[in-house]
Amino acid sequence: MKVLKFGGTSVGSAENIKKVKEIVQSQNGDVIVVVSALGGITDKILTAANNASTGTGDFHTELKEIKIKHDEVIHSLFNGSGSIKYIVAELLDELEQILTGITLVGELTPKTLDRIAGIGERISSNIVAQFLGADRKDASEFIRTDSNFGKAIVNFKETDKNIQEAFNDFSGIAVVPGFISKNAKGEFTTIGRGGSDYTAAIISAALNVEILEIWTDVNGFMTADPRVISKAYTIPELTYSEAMELSHFGAKVIYPPTILPVFQKGIPILIKNTFEPENPGTRISRT
Ligand code: ADP
Ligand code: ASP
Ligand code: MG
Repeated sequence: MKVLKFGGTSVGSAENIKKVKEIVQSQNGDVIVVVSALGGITDKILTAANNASTGTGDFHTELKEIKIKHDEVIHSLFNGSGSIKYIVAELLDELEQILTGITLVGELTPKTLDRIAGIGERISSNIVAQFLGADRKDASEFIRTDSNFGKAIVNFKETDKNIQEAFNDFSGIAVVPGFISKNAKGEFTTIGRGGSDYTAAIISAALNVEILEIWTDVNGFMTADPRVISKAYTIPELTYSEAMELSHFGAKVIYPPTILPVFQKGIPILIKNTFEPENPGTRISRT
């Protein structure tokens, strides 16, 4: 069994989601696919929430952009047919209602923000699951955290047990939303910006999978951010501790807490480029 995580750019358009499908279908064995929100959506939700809370109440610009982006992707992947448009409409309705509530009270708490921060993942996981013809398994039903909204701490004892139960008789392909979780009261929490990598690692460790693959928009772990340093090049292999150190010092390609759960189990991480799948990328392991 493998876990493949696809980031925001990788699921950011219909064309890219088709690439994701090709990559997933070319795998042998059982695959758990973890997805981020469509690129840019989480930022727009947070901006909308902040605008809603600051008196002007104008969250409509962002909300409209969020709707248009999802409409475009759904239309292109499903020709406007099927149940997906109703599922997405309902989630966007939930977003709009909460934004309206924030505007009315003129206040935005971390708890309310976490109610909506993960709507992008709740939507993208439905879109990708339907497009792949796969089951969707909801991370917020099995990743249990404390109530440190925005960057909640995972309760591994409960979470591991829940994941093992949820995937007990699993085979084939499953799609899981990254980033989202719930506390003991059943309220939504999130595990930190960039946290979909962490979701994938938590699942990988709980199920002791053979490999965790992080599919992103660059050729693996590089000597620097290629957006800043044009001569940056891929590092073919890293140890867990090297990768951890680099990510802590700002290499955004992997969210720092991701490494620990898989390191403890000795599960290798492969960082790959969705747009250049033939590139070997970076392998992170003990050696
Ligand atoms: P995703 O949405 O797939 O999680 P991120 O934007 O979180 O992708 O991370 C990938 C980005 O990390 C790259 O586009 C790149 O600009 C940036 N980055 C920063 N430092 C590095 C590095 N050392 N190696 C590779 N990418 C890096
Ligand atoms: N969508 C979330 C974020 O933008 C989580 C992730 O993409 O990893 O932070
Ligand atoms: Mg990321």
